[in-house]
Amino acid sequence: YMPSLNDIRTTFLDYFAKQGHEVVPSSPLVPRNDPTLMFTNSGMVQFKNLFTGVEQRDYSRATTAQKCVRAGGKHNDLDNVGYTARHHTFFEMLGNFSFGDYFKSEAIPFAWELITRELDIPKERLIVTVYHTDEEAVEIWKRTGVPEDRIIRIATNDNFWMMGPTGPCGPCTEIFFDHGEKYWGGPPGSPEEDGDRFVEIWNLVFMQYEQFEDGTRRELSAQSIDTGMGIERVAALLQGTNDNYGTDLMRSLIEASAHASSTEPDGPGKSHHRVIADHLRSTSFLIADGVMPSNDGRGYVLRRIMRRAMRHAHLLGAKDPLMHRLVPTLVRQMGAAYPELGRAQALIEETLRLEESRFKQTLERGLRLLDDELAGLPDEAPLPGEAAFKLYDTYGFPLDLTQDALREKNRSVDTEGFDSAMAKQKALARAAWSGSGEAADAAVWFDLLQTHGGTDFLGYETEIAEGQI
Ligand code: ATP
Ligand code: MG
Ligand code: MG
Ligand code: MG
Repeated sequence: YMPSLNDIRTTFLDYFAKQGHEVVPSSPLVPRNDPTLMFTNSGMVQFKNLFTGVEQRDYSRATTAQKCVRAGGKHNDLDNVGYTARHHTFFEMLGNFSFGDYFKSEAIPFAWELITRELDIPKERLIVTVYHTDEEAVEIWKRTGVPEDRIIRIATNDNFWMMGPTGPCGPCTEIFFDHGEKYWGGPPGSPEEDGDRFVEIWNLVFMQYEQFEDGTRRELSAQSIDTGMGIERVAALLQGTNDNYGTDLMRSLIEASAHASSTEPDGPGKSHHRVIADHLRSTSFLIADGVMPSNDGRGYVLRRIMRRAMRHAHLLGAKDPLMHRLVPTLVRQMGAAYPELGRAQALIEETLRLEESRFKQTLERGLRLLDDELAGLPDEAPLPGEAAFKLYDTYGFPLDLTQDALREKNRSVDTEGFDSAMAKQKALARAAWSGSGEAADAAVWFDLLQTHGGTDFLGYETEIAEGQI
């Protein structure tokens, strides 16, 4: 049985529909009622008010395939892309939810039945974790058929979820797949857990308590369930690979990238194709949900992802804009499940083409400057902050693009130096502004606004202000 990504989505939603769940469409990547959250990063985001009891709907069980982006804010996997086999900036999270309806004793058997019966994943390759004090979950797992020696107790916050400093919280149980001894890595909780051997596929959150400001907790009267399974990771294991980029969908994007750049998909440009395939999905879905490249907030995160992808396209030797040529393949693969993609196709292509042809003009010169700077430095010395700032300010290189370029060479950036160069320029601009108020100064100010964004740039609350921009 080797299901495609689209088959897995259908199997999941059908299974939970049969168990009385309302199939709810994915919410947009820009959260509607939450200005503090940069992008929708899990299935529960659209249901927050149901979990807290602020809102009621005519269903108490739901299931979704949710578009997620983790490329900014608290969950940021941008730097993992290209370096792990299991992280994307855009991915789909499959979930089932109970709003004060069923709890642990049903959620665990549902999950187990789905993966071992519907998806046919061999039981002996699965391991589960529980929060160390959650003996109730241990008992339910054992009853469901998981032997004690496959249940690992974890004491860290990896297995305790909180919505925020106050509000619903509770223990989690996670399901891991063992890809086998040929891969390096250890079971969850061990020092080698970040290897590629044991991969987390599904997280089940038990919203059991309410946390108060004074630090105390009370059992919730309406206990709820929130789960999230990464569809690409499940597709990988069902398709006999430990590599998300080896799955049917990612493979077709990689092949499109290889074709468009007249290179081999598995040749020397392999890692560039992977980054391009990943970033194509996040940029296309973000544009389809109304985000446009800009110099602050969400638009700047989009711009950063686009420009990173473009550097990788450049390294493949692409002379002309490349990303926009891959959009039809993406629409063919994902347009049926996400019709907004097809509706926005022309806008996505045009936005990518424009941004890429504009950035091309400075990309090459910037990369040359970067090489010159490095040539003048001792081996392994970090790139001075002033140089990184010049790349940012003059050549439009987001800091993380420079860092991405340096990481390949085992180098880093003096980020403190970068921050102080940025601060210096802002102070200069402010001084110029308070001076005369003439038109010339206004132009300087407007320029800076374009480069750094307005007051929002540093003023975003919570996640967005966490220095991720
Ligand atoms: P990891 O520890 O591997 O980074 P996580 O614990 O951060 O994952 P959760 O927040 O528990 O992930 O999200 C639920 C599920 O979504 C995970 O079990 C995983 O299958 C999937 N997932 C999370 N992050 C990513 C990502 N960046 N790319 C693809 N799938 C992901
Ligand atoms: Mg993570
Ligand atoms: Mg995890
Ligand atoms: Mg998790």
